[in-house]
Amino acid sequence: MALIPVDLDPAQLRDFVALQRGWHNSPGFVVTIPHKRPVAAQLDALTARAARLQAVNVVRRDADGTLSGDMVDGPGFMAAAETHGFVARGGSALVIGTGGAGSAIVDALCDAGIARLALQDLDPARVAAMRALFGAAFPALEFLDHYDGLGAFDLVVNASPVGMGGADALPIPAALLATLRQDTLVADVVTKPAMTPFLHAARAHGCRVQTGPEMTACQIEILARFLGVLPEAAV
Ligand code: NAD
Repeated sequence: MALIPVDLDPAQLRDFVALQRGWHNSPGFVVTIPHKRPVAAQLDALTARAARLQAVNVVRRDADGTLSGDMVDGPGFMAAAETHGFVARGGSALVIGTGGAGSAIVDALCDAGIARLALQDLDPARVAAMRALFGAAFPALEFLDHYDGLGAFDLVVNASPVGMGGADALPIPAALLATLRQDTLVADVVTKPAMTPFLHAARAHGCRVQTGPEMTACQIEILARFLGVLPEAAV
């Protein structure tokens, strides 16, 4: 199998998706921003999580040209978190940033049985939309609106771009990071650098940390399984 990078103009997206339907030896394609939501709207079928999120990051082409989409950012994040011993069921999490990556992580946490969730975003409309979506899909979920410190959380995730490209900003104030429990898993989605200032601060505090590249790496097998391109030995 080969992965060919395609830097696609959004104006050509509809033609690209149509071309895939007739591409007999293509197993499908992987989708990145800004195409995750527009591609989802053009497919024949979506997994339950892709339908909730109305976004996909992988599309499978079946033999008859049918296109099915999934969004595996969240499962990739959860698979990485499990390698750190994190158990979502019955636990509590703070997710900072509720855009594409953040909403996929929230979805995976809810699917895995998280009990209490706090959401933070610069855009209050995003938080309201996520609360409405996940509150309806997971009625047992409790939203934590106010917290003085981070001691209530088993997981704190930066799913915002803060810390990307060497910026020294933190997504939450340093004084608040000092209230983390040492058994809390602190994770970041940012891939460059792998160790963000947020993760450095959490590690210095004594917490386990999970990097963005760990989340990406854990998605590869999930993507390959969905596309049906895993080597025989791994099936
Ligand atoms: P996005 O633009 O869809 O969402 C970002 C969200 O963060 C927005 O809602 C924005 O309002 C919010 N935000 C920005 N600054 C904030 C702050 N200081 N506090 C709280 N919220 C803030 O972007 P995205 O697609 O979700 O990508 C976010 C990051 O995730 C990027 O760095 C991207 O590279 C990374 N990412 C990593 C993986 C991975 O596998 N590791 C996968 C997808 C995305």
